[in-house]
Amino acid sequence: MSNRDNFSQATKDILAKRTGFKCSFPSCWTTTIGPSDEMESPIDATGMACHIYAAADGKGAKRYKKGMTPEQRKSINNGIWMCYKHGKQIDNDEVRFTADSLHQWKEIAEKRAKIEHELGKSINGDLSLLSLGLAKNTITIDNTTNGFENQLIGDAIIDSNAHFLWGKDLVEHIKIYLIEITRNAFLYGDAKNIKLEIGINKITLIDDGNKYSQHDLLDNPSPRGGVESYTQMMDKYGNKIIAMTERHDNKNHNIISFVNEITQIENISSCTYKVYPAYCKPENSVEINTYESCSDLYILFDKHPSVSDMYQLGGKRSKLASFNKPLVFVLEDTVEYLGQRLQKIFPESRVMHLRR
Ligand SMILES: [Zn+2]
Repeated sequence: MSNRDNFSQATKDILAKRTGFKCSFPSCWTTTIGPSDEMESPIDATGMACHIYAAADGKGAKRYKKGMTPEQRKSINNGIWMCYKHGKQIDNDEVRFTADSLHQWKEIAEKRAKIEHELGKSINGDLSLLSLGLAKNTITIDNTTNGFENQLIGDAIIDSNAHFLWGKDLVEHIKIYLIEITRNAFLYGDAKNIKLEIGINKITLIDDGNKYSQHDLLDNPSPRGGVESYTQMMDKYGNKIIAMTERHDNKNHNIISFVNEITQIENISSCTYKVYPAYCKPENSVEINTYESCSDLYILFDKHPSVSDMYQLGGKRSKLASFNKPLVFVLEDTVEYLGQRLQKIFPESRVMHLRR
């Protein structure tokens, strides 16, 4: 008798149905059932119920967790529905495919199936799913893996589910930019070790090279991949992402995040300065060195700004200039002309207009 704690047929059926018979692998979402031309079976089923923590100990077991009971191992909580190809893939690699990632894929796949079922159509990059967050992951690129950055960064981004949650084209832009700045950090920044940290709401590339920010890229007299990938990304998605660098403990933290609300920016970075409508009142006394580590200063407007607030802010130009940082003004869900007014008052700055 097998010592594997296999799923019952009923459990497999429920797992399949809860995803709408779709593969849970990020960016796959292949249908795993359909009609067959074979006489013996009218249905062609290509999906499989995979164990998140292995069904049994021993050679080849992936993500085996001691201390689980047989009931826990074969319970629906320990299963994830996959197409055949991706099922085999996750059963072969516990380093890339951690239990935490698989749990998150499952949650996103089931939530997606639920929304698609309710709406009666397929969805992609749906903002209602943003709160589920990316599947957390960290990878390291050092002198042993330098040269494989395309593969390592590309796989990590796919596994995070970012393509689906943030939108495919945006995430492709981000991926290429991350690969370019990784190469730059090794080639020109003298970096020895680079980490790609994927958190629930941001992707951070941390390198131990010389101090750098994306503005150094733009100031480069002979621009190449880094500049092109940055400008293309910001031209197209400048109203949807923050892309900045913070310097901590002699490391550059290149932060990228998809945002659609001002409050998210405060959670992602401390390089923010909140502007209230009563901006001109003197209580805004912020120490300049608060922003020492920041490549940019994000000026966040409180809700309901008016156009005269923009003019008043213009009067505070010298105060803002004293921070000595490129400024990014962030407005949320308001009329177009407020952003245009700001851009006229501060032509050298960037204006982000978030829309939900
Ligand atoms: Zn698949």
